[in-house]
Amino acid sequence: MRELIETTWTPVACDVCGADATELTVLGTRSARILQKQHDYTWRHQDTQCKRCGFVFNRLRPEAGFLRDYYTDCWPISSTSITIEPDFDVALRLNLLNRWLTPQARLYEIGDKLGEFHAALVKAGYEVAGDDVMAAASERRDWLDGLFRRGCVAVPPTAMREAFDAVLAYFVVEHLANPQHWLRSIRGLLTPGGCLVIEVPHLVLHPKEALMHEHFLYLTPESLTALVNEAGFEVVETSDSGASRRFGFALVARKTETPPPPDLAGLQVCAAKLQASYLRGRELLDDATNNLMVSARLVFIAVNEAPLSVRVCFFGANQTASEIASLLRPLLATDAVEILPFDNSDAKTGTDLEGFEHLVQKPDPTGFAPAMLHVCVICSRGWTQAIATQIRSFGLPHFVLLDGAGGCLLSAD
Ligand SMILES: [Zn+2]
Repeated sequence: MRELIETTWTPVACDVCGADATELTVLGTRSARILQKQHDYTWRHQDTQCKRCGFVFNRLRPEAGFLRDYYTDCWPISSTSITIEPDFDVALRLNLLNRWLTPQARLYEIGDKLGEFHAALVKAGYEVAGDDVMAAASERRDWLDGLFRRGCVAVPPTAMREAFDAVLAYFVVEHLANPQHWLRSIRGLLTPGGCLVIEVPHLVLHPKEALMHEHFLYLTPESLTALVNEAGFEVVETSDSGASRRFGFALVARKTETPPPPDLAGLQVCAAKLQASYLRGRELLDDATNNLMVSARLVFIAVNEAPLSVRVCFFGANQTASEIASLLRPLLATDAVEILPFDNSDAKTGTDLEGFEHLVQKPDPTGFAPAMLHVCVICSRGWTQAIATQIRSFGLPHFVLLDGAGGCLLSAD
């Protein structure tokens, strides 16, 4: 049995305008058990709207150690059995940067995961902060740990102060437990007039993605503008679309000594729209949960109606797979049907996943017997088509393809 990590969740004031509990209305509460590499984690939400500025956010913040453990326990993406393309539009990111930055500008990308975007930045002629750090490694590491995982203020290492023409933060800000302190820390990295480039999910246009469990802030261009104004930035560009992921928006701000005051009255006007978007997002999330049950039932039907001996193969050893498998097992009248977890990630091979009796293995075409029917449930969000192509390349005469998260059949050959 995997260990469930709990923490203490503390309510905070409005991140945008600082209004306290007396001016906050709870829109909904939720909690979820989230699977990571080693452990499971309970995330809690008290989704709240500020009466003063209309901002919608999760008012509960976990202890520092919880975020640190959670994010260090994430799955790495690297694989040797499938080519994983970036899940963002590289050209779109570069176009925006080229509009605002001079050639050879010095950049710092924060929250860069595997550094997928670094190579493109270097190729485009920018000077990018990488692993050959300017400050002592330990000082930088402590600082990064503070920024990413504890979400709290940390003074930038001396050698990094005012060292960059731009800081890039793609899909980072919505995860911050203490965004004001974080933004002020980042401000310390920038030269006077330096640019902060942010992409985050858009609450109104993509409410489901905005409300993902790891997010504290459900942002729109208006609320993000107020947030960065408060931290000493002036916004020079926002775009509703034009982010490198379909569910995001982009914002470019400049460090200034005279930021415009946050436009609270302007924000208040959007309050009803934000509330409606929140409720829509919650509906879509409920639909997503229903989809998992639909997937389990589709697998059950495929197994029951199979004219041949049958195996169920999950592709993507993750939470979605785990939840569908756990729903599926009680539906099947027999334990004789094998339910197997596959994943292309090197790191997941040989690991244990809740809901499965077998360990995670890499998909190897020679392990798929042509005489059997393979019911394949694809659970790797973002790479569904790539994995479908991979399965088709096995050349099996009989297989069914399902989109696990979508709760629908992709094909039945
Ligand atoms: Zn507020």
